Amino acid sequence: MPEQRGGARIIDGATIAAGIRRRVARQTASLAAREAIVPGLTVILVGDNPASEIYVRTKLKHAAEAGIRSRDLRLPATITQAALLGHIAALNADPTVDGILVQMPLPSHIEADAVTAAIDPQRDVDGFHPLNAGYLVAGWPTLTPCTPLGCIILLRSALGELAGLNALVLGRSNIVGKPMALLLLRENCTVTVAHSRSRDLPELCRRADIVVAAIGRPEFVRGAWLKPGATVIDVGINRIERDGKRRIVGDVAFAEAVGVAGAITPVPGGVGPMTIACLLENTLHAACLRRGIALPAAEG
Ligand code: NAP
Repeated sequence: MPEQRGGARIIDGATIAAGIRRRVARQTASLAAREAIVPGLTVILVGDNPASEIYVRTKLKHAAEAGIRSRDLRLPATITQAALLGHIAALNADPTVDGILVQMPLPSHIEADAVTAAIDPQRDVDGFHPLNAGYLVAGWPTLTPCTPLGCIILLRSALGELAGLNALVLGRSNIVGKPMALLLLRENCTVTVAHSRSRDLPELCRRADIVVAAIGRPEFVRGAWLKPGATVIDVGINRIERDGKRRIVGDVAFAEAVGVAGAITPVPGGVGPMTIACLLENTLHAACLRRGIALPAAEG
């Protein structure tokens, strides 16, 4: 039974993600046994941003547990863009590498777009390459950005069928908001995308059966804005200090929203673990797609 707090069901991303990781592990075991293929993931970390260090360590740990051959490529913050692109070109040509991920943010002297565009689209397990973004717009099968993909899985787990629901996406970044809107459209939702220039966010929220908040503003979405019974997916990860303690909070004022929403993701333990689980899934997909073989069934 899902946990219930103050009216809303808590959407347990940590448990759902653990289930996906176990399934990917069974599929990679089957791929190794039948085809002698072990998917390979390389994560590039430039500089020593402490939050990025934690993300990379967690990604590599879960990848290894899922039977994915994972490694990190650590590069100094002073590396030139040309040298970084050289590393990516070498990985693009390495037959043991199925997935390449460059941990963001990058130092300011490096153009993130140039780096994203340099990754072989078939190895682009983040799904950020313009070709994969274009496939997503066209509705073609592709490597899909992990966070929005994880959000859709959470929404399906909470609501089942999404068709016909009014969905509001707060935020229009290339990595979360835009692909999220496209995936909701693919689910036949009626989608509104809001951003920093949108007018009357509370009114837009009040009309939404689904709210996906991805703006990077701590506890910005208030409980009173929500339609009673709405399903709320909080993508935000904001580090704040409160009562002398460091905390991580989402973009939604959870304590308020939990009394109004029908279902809500916690932060942490909601979307975050799903992003990593979907990265593993994308790496397995990339390994199969590049070799033109079908995804193995999850046996056992
Ligand atoms: P981003 O690139 O900074 O984009 C933020 C978006 O929010 C922009 O579209 C911006 O509008 C909009 N926005 C900012 N302030 C707003 C306001 N006051 N009202 C309405 N819209 C506003 O951020 P992102 O990379 O998409 O990430 C968003 C949040 O999700 C961050 O907290 C990030 O840490 C988190 N995140 C979590 C995961 C995960 O795995 N859980 C993964 C990725 C990101 P404009 O376009 O008009 O500037």
